[in-house]
Amino acid sequence: MKTEEGGSQETGVRSQEKSNGNFHANSPIRSSDVSLSSLAVCLVSGGMDSCVTAAIAHEENEELAFLHVSYGQRTEARERRAFEELADYYEVKRRLAISIEHLARIGGSSLTDQSIPVAAADLASSEIPTSYVPFRNAHLLAIAVSWAEVIKAERIYIGAVAEDSSGYPDCRPEFYAAFQKVVEVGTKPLTKIEIMTPVIALTKAEIVRRGLKLNAPLQLTWSCYQAAEDACGRCDSCALRLRGFREAGVSDPIAYA
Ligand SMILES: [Zn+2]
Repeated sequence: MKTEEGGSQETGVRSQEKSNGNFHANSPIRSSDVSLSSLAVCLVSGGMDSCVTAAIAHEENEELAFLHVSYGQRTEARERRAFEELADYYEVKRRLAISIEHLARIGGSSLTDQSIPVAAADLASSEIPTSYVPFRNAHLLAIAVSWAEVIKAERIYIGAVAEDSSGYPDCRPEFYAAFQKVVEVGTKPLTKIEIMTPVIALTKAEIVRRGLKLNAPLQLTWSCYQAAEDACGRCDSCALRLRGFREAGVSDPIAYA
C-alpha cells in the first residue's frame, strides 16, 4: 500500500482558471449558518456525487480532510487529477491519496479487470452491472475510518447514491447503518465517528441541482468509467450523469466524445 500525503501542485490546476459557462469557479459558498466546529474526512473519488457531497460537507464542517483511493480502475489517473482540483477548489490542506492493489488483483469488475469490457449503459436493467467492484465501499470506508480515528475527525462523508444509481449493494442505506455499528465496536471507546451519506436518497437530477445551488465545481469532476480524455457518454456512469443534467434542465460542463 503506497500513500502520499499533501497536495500535489504539479497536477492541480487552480480552480480560478477553470471557469466554464454557467459554473462559477470562484470561492465556494456556505449558505447555512450552522455552528462549525468539526473536522470531517470526505471520500472524494473525483466524480459528481463525491463533489456535491464535499460541497455539503463544506457547509457542515469547519475543516475538511480529503481522502482519495485509487484501486487500479481504468480511469485512475484522471480521477486523481479531479480529486486534486476539487481539493484545490475547497482549499483543503489535509489530503491523503492512497493506492490499493488488492481490488484489481481480485478482479471481478469491468472497472478493474481489462478482460471484462465496460458495458454500454442499460439504465432499465435491474441486474447489478459488471462495473460493480465487489464490496468496494467497505474497503474505502475502512481506510477512511482508520484515518479519521488518527486525525480525530468526527465525521466521514461518502457520496453513495442508492436509488438513482446502478443498483450496487454497497450503496444502500442499510449497508451504511451496519457499517456505523462496525465503527462503533471497532474503534477506541472515546472515538466518535459518524458516517454521513448526504446524497444517498437523491436522484442524479437532484444532485446536479444541489451542486449548482452550493456552487460546487461540477466542471472539475470526472465520472466516465472508461475514457480519460473526453467522456465516452455511453457507459453507465456517463448515462446516469447525462440523464441527471438533462432532467435538471442544464447542460453538463464537461466534454463528451
Ligand atoms: Zn463513460
